[in-house]
Amino acid sequence: MGVNLIIVFVIGLFIGSFLNVVIDRIARDEKFFSGRSYCESCQHPLFWLDLVPLFSFILLAGRCRYCKSRIPFWLPLVEVITGLVFALIIFFSWGLSWWLVIFRLVIASFLVVIFFADLKYRLVYGIVVYPALIVTLAYQTFLLGGGQGLINPLLSSVFTGLFFYGLYLLTKKKGLGFGDVQIGFLLGLLLGYPATVVSLYLSFLTGALVGIILMVAGRAKLKTPVAFGPFLVFSAFAAWFFGQEMFNFVKEWLFF
Ligand SMILES: [Zn+2]
Repeated sequence: MGVNLIIVFVIGLFIGSFLNVVIDRIARDEKFFSGRSYCESCQHPLFWLDLVPLFSFILLAGRCRYCKSRIPFWLPLVEVITGLVFALIIFFSWGLSWWLVIFRLVIASFLVVIFFADLKYRLVYGIVVYPALIVTLAYQTFLLGGGQGLINPLLSSVFTGLFFYGLYLLTKKKGLGFGDVQIGFLLGLLLGYPATVVSLYLSFLTGALVGIILMVAGRAKLKTPVAFGPFLVFSAFAAWFFGQEMFNFVKEWLFF
């Protein structure tokens, strides 16, 4: 099992490398299936040995082979996080049919793109969220066998999306972005009740905590807008695998 997880981690590194391309090229409005990779500083096309995920970054000591400028730290970070996320999903998916596991890996890849695009560029890509919604709906249909089983995630999706849309209108479009509304529909659909509630609670809690830490550290002021998408995605991922346990824990703890 240990060896399998290492193989999955390495596959995740390569997928992460592709996700980097998606994240950056959508932000720059470029096509992401064509064109060779090049250095962001000197525009020099990259040699295959510069393109091996994580390995190249370590081999080149984090600098471009041609102009010696620093390779953005995001690149190996996205690769490593994708590798870890893939390994975690395999670890928590034993016994599930392989094609449901593939669905989970695809959904996780969408989540990685949404997380880092918002963190890095403060953008939520509709071109990524809408396909993610369709894939998640297909996944839930197969997982729950369609029919009445789907009512829970569909209702969660509508309620969460409308909840964020309400907040978006209330904060006069300055607190939350419309991207957060889109992410709300997605995480409701993915998690269903009660995991959605857990993830929302966790996202507001982690968002507030990080906000306070940034303010204390003098990095942000009260009015500095912080992207909320990464908190939503992180919390959704945690609740995806531990939502029911976390919900039970809180329920017992509050004695109701
Ligand atoms: Zn360069």
